[in-house]
Amino acid sequence: MKVITATDDIELVRRAGSRRVLVPTMGALHKAHGELIRVAREHAGKDGEVAVSIFVNPLQFEPGSDYEKYPRPEKADEDFCRTINVDLLFRPAPGEMYFEDRSVFVDETALSSTLEGKSRPGHFRGVCTVVAKLFNILSPDAAVFGEKDYQQLAIIRRMVRDLNYKIDIVGVPIVREDDGLAFSSRNQYLNKEERQQATVLRKALLAAENSGKKSGKEIVDLVREMISAAPLARIDYVALVDAETLQPLEKVQPNSLLALAVFFGKTRLIDNIRLP
Ligand code: AMP
Repeated sequence: MKVITATDDIELVRRAGSRRVLVPTMGALHKAHGELIRVAREHAGKDGEVAVSIFVNPLQFEPGSDYEKYPRPEKADEDFCRTINVDLLFRPAPGEMYFEDRSVFVDETALSSTLEGKSRPGHFRGVCTVVAKLFNILSPDAAVFGEKDYQQLAIIRRMVRDLNYKIDIVGVPIVREDDGLAFSSRNQYLNKEERQQATVLRKALLAAENSGKKSGKEIVDLVREMISAAPLARIDYVALVDAETLQPLEKVQPNSLLALAVFFGKTRLIDNIRLP
């Protein structure tokens, strides 16, 4: 595995004619990242190359969030990538990615207005800007993203369409712990009680799916009620939206998305399910 930390050095590892598939991450790698990397390998083919980027992107953390304390287990991440045969690890320092007087950003202006975008102003501008930069630096043929960050995936697809990137975007279904909690680098912030109670998220989404309810309000109320029964949970949002436009829906229709963000203590978790 080649490990590159300087943007200019990427040119040294271009393999002529080989298909490069990129998995962008912020590190603290876990089983779900492993699944994205496995899917990347499938898409790269026998002679292709799987590239993983690890960069905790300061631009996508809103003020007062967990940028400073976000886990950065460098050695474990590198070992993780080696064990699953990643070909290229790109791990730039913040100074390598951004000029202090940077003044150009990539801003998606429709899909970003709801859900995470509403709760975390500037977040998707940071995400789009860094992903565009990673695309420009690494020139992948395809890139893999998880459906846990459903809105992010939709926004990246829109960016690729609107800015004419010749990059296939591949989505991967949410990978979960045995008890249903979606893997996340932030799960390690949870204490024992919070971790136990966090299983309510998946249970509430499944209850909504199984309820057969069609009214957006009734579905959201049901999920809110179940989650509120967990004493350590504080709901940020629960929303039924169109899975393409991400705009709120009054009724479940084909291609709906039920998405939520909930704090357990200081830790903010997200999850979602497609309906009907
Ligand atoms: P992160 O390192 O948290 O920025 O995530 C990097 C990529 O992994 C993103 O495309 C995420 O959507 C994806 N990802 C993280 N957790 C999961 C999960 N539990 N299931 C599927 N994809 C995930």
